[in-house]
Amino acid sequence: MAPVYLDCNASTPIEPEVLQSLVGALREVGNPHADHGHGRAQRERLEAARHAVAAAFGRAAPLVSFTSGATESIDLAHGGLRDHLKRMERRHIVTTAVEHRAVASAVERLRQGGFEVSVVGCDAQGRVDAAELLDRVRADTGLVSMMHVNNETGAVLPIAQVARGLVGHEAYLHVDASQSAGKLQAPLTDSRLDLISLSGHKLHAPVGIGALVLSERAAAALTPRLTGAFASDPRRPGTPSAPLAEALAVALRLAARDGDARRAVWERHRQGVLRTVAALGARVVGPDDGLANVVSVELPGLDAEVARMLVADLVEVGTGSACHASRAPSHVLLAMGRSARQAACVLRFSWCHLTPDVPWEEVVQRLGPHCVVDDSQRGRLASARRVAQVGV
Ligand code: PLP
Repeated sequence: MAPVYLDCNASTPIEPEVLQSLVGALREVGNPHADHGHGRAQRERLEAARHAVAAAFGRAAPLVSFTSGATESIDLAHGGLRDHLKRMERRHIVTTAVEHRAVASAVERLRQGGFEVSVVGCDAQGRVDAAELLDRVRADTGLVSMMHVNNETGAVLPIAQVARGLVGHEAYLHVDASQSAGKLQAPLTDSRLDLISLSGHKLHAPVGIGALVLSERAAAALTPRLTGAFASDPRRPGTPSAPLAEALAVALRLAARDGDARRAVWERHRQGVLRTVAALGARVVGPDDGLANVVSVELPGLDAEVARMLVADLVEVGTGSACHASRAPSHVLLAMGRSARQAACVLRFSWCHLTPDVPWEEVVQRLGPHCVVDDSQRGRLASARRVAQVGV
């Protein structure tokens, strides 16, 4: 039996209905910029997708740029605003300590280009406080850039409160919605959000498609990052992929349609992880009220890489942020107050509605003997394993 894939926060499996529509669309030839029947058909497909993606965020179609993924969307947001912010003498940025590298490195590039950056920390569960963040906003703040849902802990950041707090302030608000689009969609329709970046392969569309959703004023301020022919999008030149754009639109539609059913499956898997955590004497690293499709687990005295190998034929999991392969301790875990040593013992389990049943009992049997627990924990563990029906 193949191992169960438990790394959905790194990339989700494509939804069968999305695949079906994609395969059909890929059979069609035509450049959406061409003025003949095939070109027009592709253009219609592309513009219908743009309209659908925009509507999912409560926006008009011209405010959506299709990109290759969230990293490009973030680069377009940050790099695209840079010249405008400089002109406006707004060279201060507020961001958080739990951002994905895609945002953290885009912020770092702005810092190196003369911007001043305030980084707001998080609590031991990875939660960010809206009031603390808003306190850092100054008269010359040009950009507030924060994620919506953390890819390692599932912590939900208070974007609605931050959006409310910024009403009447000139700062642009960028939200990295890579892990929340299609999962926690409602706050993303707030009109105060100026730039929303999203990634197809985090929401059951294929890899290679993403979007940047804008407000009118952000769209007016943005400078494109690429040069070329701007036939269908004033911010992103080149030939856009109508089939991929459509796949993203379909994925968002299905996420809205099936949200309740998906969440019920997530919760079932989450309970399996939580029973496993108890049976191993391990600790959840993250808040109780995070998105229910991810749990990071600190294994007592067991290196995460070793643990990953021990269970490699049963489950495939992430360590740290699974989106980068470095063995450097996760900056998110460090920001949460974990030591580098503790961070090295953290495994990330993430799943989706397409995840099949997970052999949790076998995972416990494999990892249990390698977890270092003290005598006071042994009795408690024995009963947790009985409750989990995984033997003692
Ligand atoms: N932001 C977050 C929160 C992510 O989790 C990821 C990928 O893991 C990205 C950005 C980058 O997304 P992409 O792979 O589409 O460039």
